[in-house]
Amino acid sequence: MMRLFVALPLPVDARAQLSAVQSGLVGGRWIDPQNMHLTLRFIGDVPEPDARDLSLALSEIHAPAFDLSLSGIGHFDRRGNVHSVWARVGKCDGLTHLQAKIESVVVRAGYAPEQRKFTPHITLARLKDTPLERIGPWLEDAGVLSVPPFPVPEFALFQSQLGHGGAKYTELAAYLLIKFAE
Ligand code: ATP
Ligand code: MG
Repeated sequence: MMRLFVALPLPVDARAQLSAVQSGLVGGRWIDPQNMHLTLRFIGDVPEPDARDLSLALSEIHAPAFDLSLSGIGHFDRRGNVHSVWARVGKCDGLTHLQAKIESVVVRAGYAPEQRKFTPHITLARLKDTPLERIGPWLEDAGVLSVPPFPVPEFALFQSQLGHGGAKYTELAAYLLIKFAE
């Protein structure tokens, strides 16, 4: 079986800017800048031949390229206990369009529809259920985060191999977005 997800890789400059806020959080596990990405669709475990079929289906997507910017920090919590903190993604119609296309291709390929609303984010740290109050000061400091617009030329299918030091991601295939001359 292969554990798969579809995501946007991030340029090295953007990852460097994100890594600048990765300090001063206790009880957090920082995401290695090498591993930073924007998840578009989590697929989960599939048999290897299905991974190839899915990859081919994704290759049929034609969608326009776009620019993304990042600004501010968000978090996911369960009843006030924070389990991840992430960079906010600036509103982007191109991103919304691409995610909708991917979702429809994935569902057409036979996977169950995603139930959760799409919240584009780039995870910076995983926390061990930490009360929101405890990370308030960090959220405030890191909230100044601002990464100016950068071009997104492609999306990709990744394999995730879960391990002790965190997951290892491998890019299985990349799909070019269409760049139209200005
Ligand atoms: P670990 O689970 O060891 O902390 P990870 O979450 O980075 O590592 P995966 O669980 O394989 O690795 O997840 C790969 C990507 O898919 C991550 O961006 C993760 O946030 C996202 N993801 C994982 N599970 C789901 C899910 N059920 N729904 C939506 N996105 C998910
Ligand atoms: Mg996970």
